[in-house]
Amino acid sequence: MSTSTVINPATEEVLRDVDLLDVDAVDDAVARAVAAQRRWARQAPAERAAALRAFAAVVDAHIGELAALEVANSGHPIGQAEWEAGHVRDVLTYYAASPERLTGAQIPVAGGVDVTFHEPLGVVGIITPWNFPMTIASWGFAPALAAGNAVVLKPAEWTPLTSLRLAELAAAAGLDPDLFQVLPGAGGVVGERFVTHPQVRKIVFTGSTAVGTRVMAGAAAQVKRVTLELGGKSANIVFDDCDLERAAATAPYGVFDNAGQDCCARSRILVQRNVYDRFMELLEPAVAGVKVGDPASRDTEMGPLVSRKHWESVRGYVPDDAPVAFRGSAPSGPGFWFPPTVLTPQRTDRTVTEEIFGPVVTVLAFEDEADAIALANDTSYGLSGSIWTENLSRALRVTRAVEAGNLSVNSHSSVRYSTPFGGFKQSGLGRELGPDAPLHFTETKNVFIAIGEI
Ligand code: NAD
Repeated sequence: MSTSTVINPATEEVLRDVDLLDVDAVDDAVARAVAAQRRWARQAPAERAAALRAFAAVVDAHIGELAALEVANSGHPIGQAEWEAGHVRDVLTYYAASPERLTGAQIPVAGGVDVTFHEPLGVVGIITPWNFPMTIASWGFAPALAAGNAVVLKPAEWTPLTSLRLAELAAAAGLDPDLFQVLPGAGGVVGERFVTHPQVRKIVFTGSTAVGTRVMAGAAAQVKRVTLELGGKSANIVFDDCDLERAAATAPYGVFDNAGQDCCARSRILVQRNVYDRFMELLEPAVAGVKVGDPASRDTEMGPLVSRKHWESVRGYVPDDAPVAFRGSAPSGPGFWFPPTVLTPQRTDRTVTEEIFGPVVTVLAFEDEADAIALANDTSYGLSGSIWTENLSRALRVTRAVEAGNLSVNSHSSVRYSTPFGGFKQSGLGRELGPDAPLHFTETKNVFIAIGEI
């Protein structure tokens, strides 16, 4: 069995080695998950609801530990990591209500009674990225379990620690250890086996569009269900009638949160030309004010990038002759530090078109509403975005015209567990979170019972 070495990205210290599973180990795990799913689905809905509430309670009792693990493994600032662990608890609590509410329909038909059932799929395979390891995992496993499925989950190679701990916490809460299994391994081994294994009935994949495309193609061979949450290149559109001070003060946090390693990062700021100069004057001190440093410190707003390899990828977008308008600060010494960076390139530059997934933002000027919409939509992605305006009609016109799944007006909010989340175009397929998520882990079965005419 091979191992991977998990590194603290803020210090470059080795945290520990994690065993990487092979195909046989995945097959064993899936076989156990199949049996566990049957036992789980036979439990009364109220028992399954109580089990998920117990899981949420154990997570709640370990918020500090989970957050500290994420600080060490991913370099997330401690306040952010605590929010993430609390979010896992909240997602579990929210979907704990579902087992008792997955009601079908009774449909009027002639000669009998017609009812629908939401049957679980069986075993669901979840493949997660490294940027928000535990929150993204919970968006899959909580509604999947709530709908009566078993889950096998493959965390990203760089950041497996919180997911492994969550599986232990589930077992400590009383869930069958075979019902929710975390299987660390290489994408091309464990992830691919999820795709090819006939008893894994659905894949929830979050990651790059390149790998997501491959997962979807592989799933097609078995008509396997997929939910895909992929990349983004979202626009933050600043109109001249907005509260420009607030738009500029918040813009850094719309893109530099999690060091820009956020699929919803508003990494293209589009500013109406007549307020562009003023906006840039206001943006410069806001960027300088982002506190970059030790993620374990409560003051820190931005930590390091996740790995040396990723640092090199981000660095490649900012060569020495890059059109840098201004930059924030970053520590020197060990750790994968990259300062918040503001670029003013041409519209066609690759920094404008490609997902950088680091603390690098491009600012472009636009002429009018039509130009802003065209620019916002000039991308193969469509995940998120913000619109800054005091004009309600314009806000609604523009939000309807922007091709993206999650938009916010006069804020940069993207994720609430009670509202649907997902992308248009090549940002993904399907939706996570919100009230309907458990239904995406079921098949609708229609049953007609002949009773004769009444
Ligand atoms: P990635 O695509 O490299 O890896 C994602 C996961 O897929 C990892 O667990 C990896 O091991 C696995 N994988 C790799 N090859 C595989 C294969 N052949 N078959 C099956 N699985 C395989 O992405 P990443 O670098 O970990 O994450 C960054 C990307 O994720 C960015 O593009 C980002 O926008 C995207 N993302 C999207 C969302 C969203 O909700 N839309 C959220 C977070 C991240």
